[in-house]
Amino acid sequence: MDKNTTKCLIIGSGPAGYTAAIYAARAALEPVLYEGLQPGGQLTTTTVIENFPGYPDGIDANQLMSDMRAQAVNLGADVRSGMVTSVDLSKRPFAVTVDDGKTIMAETLIIATGATAKYLGLPSEEKFRGFGVSACATCDGFFYRGKDVAVVGGGDTACEEATYLAHLCKKVYMIVRRNVLRASKAMQERVMQTPNIEILWECQTREVLGDASGVTGVRLVRKSGEEFEKPIDGFFLAIGHHPQSDLFKEWIETDENGYIVTDGKSSRTSVEGVFAAGDVQDPQYRQAIAAAGSGCRAALDAERYILSRQ
Ligand code: NDP
Repeated sequence: MDKNTTKCLIIGSGPAGYTAAIYAARAALEPVLYEGLQPGGQLTTTTVIENFPGYPDGIDANQLMSDMRAQAVNLGADVRSGMVTSVDLSKRPFAVTVDDGKTIMAETLIIATGATAKYLGLPSEEKFRGFGVSACATCDGFFYRGKDVAVVGGGDTACEEATYLAHLCKKVYMIVRRNVLRASKAMQERVMQTPNIEILWECQTREVLGDASGVTGVRLVRKSGEEFEKPIDGFFLAIGHHPQSDLFKEWIETDENGYIVTDGKSSRTSVEGVFAAGDVQDPQYRQAIAAAGSGCRAALDAERYILSRQ
């Protein structure tokens, strides 16, 4: 291998990327990791994490990510700030160009670029993000026990989040812009059978209301033009995610929603030597711990791939 070729290049700095870096460093792959636009990934948009094992009292999300980063660095990973702007996966070693103009050659590539939740784009939604506005019921639902909340969306995610929240909250409103749900029949039935979920059909959000304590309500508009308000404490977005796979689509297989397709339980993509981990390949679980686990798998797959070629 050319001495200018990195054995393992990791793109992305969420739980998947850092865990891959930890494992790859311990396997003497001397990994280089590019952090991307949002070092620490999606978790850095939330506050306390109570469901990451090992923290009996929960942990601040930014602290968790900076600990993961420090662990990767302490083990020898070369963590760099910078955005990957293009890749050439047509031959090995792969060529990866970064926004400082540098091109890195890599024997294996681990894509851990994550996904971003879609938001409505309202200024009030932005204002209360992390203070009652969330795009992850599993992460933040616990803080709304016994309270009233709203979930925007009518797809499988919205139905899943609404039923999850219904176990914790007094009342869950689903804000649905059409007169039908997009979700699968099974999920629709689950919602219909949950007594404390109320669907607000043909409604759109005008404004998230709040004060210094956080979200206090939502102003909605019906298709007829009538406006009304509902008092709530939590406002959950479930209108879809966008996997950060655009850079790679030309080279590797993605599904109809843009998620990178991996082979069975492995992290192998359609290009030999390229592995994917975390939310960029996972439309289902989208949890930090699940992403960390898949980052571990990707590093082990990369290590085995390199060993198999020696
Ligand atoms: P979807 O794209 O399936 O659904 C998005 C929902 O949000 C739709 O109801 C859509 O309305 C609504 N929406 C979109 N934009 C807006 C907006 N600006 N204002 C108001 N409402 C809006 O996304 P999901 O995340 O639900 O699902 C993504 C994929 O993952 C799907 O294939 C789904 O089946 C799958 N999935 C599977 C699960 C499972 O099997 N357990 C769990 C979760 C997801 P409209 O219908 O009017 O377009």
